[in-house]
Amino acid sequence: MKSCPKCNETFPDTHFRCPECNVELVQLTVQNEAPDLVILCTVLNESKAHIMRGFLESEGIPCQLENISFHAEPAPVADLMKVRLWTLKEDAEQARRLLQERESIQVCSGCATEVDEQDEICPNCGERLDEC
Ligand SMILES: [Zn+2]
Ligand SMILES: [Zn+2]
Repeated sequence: MKSCPKCNETFPDTHFRCPECNVELVQLTVQNEAPDLVILCTVLNESKAHIMRGFLESEGIPCQLENISFHAEPAPVADLMKVRLWTLKEDAEQARRLLQERESIQVCSGCATEVDEQDEICPNCGERLDEC
């Protein structure tokens, strides 16, 4: 399927130009419009998640926060806050590096959960945390 970039009329692949507008048709990609998002990290502190997002956006990396606290069934009180940070796939690597460069933020390479900077072993998955 192709479409005209001017009038948005759709045509079969056998057409190359829009007869109305006389412009070249563009190939329509199927369901490929949604941006490719990945989980950058899971943060156990909502205000920290907001700080991290603000920091990343100031570096030109757009991100989204998803509060997943409410999805947890009988939510244990200690686990009240859980926020996921999403970024575009192509930005994820740079975003992780930027976060690691910030002294106050350490993200487990095993489960992508934000951990305490003093932690040597991830309390979440037991992964050994390397000093960066
Ligand atoms: Zn057209
Ligand atoms: Zn972990």
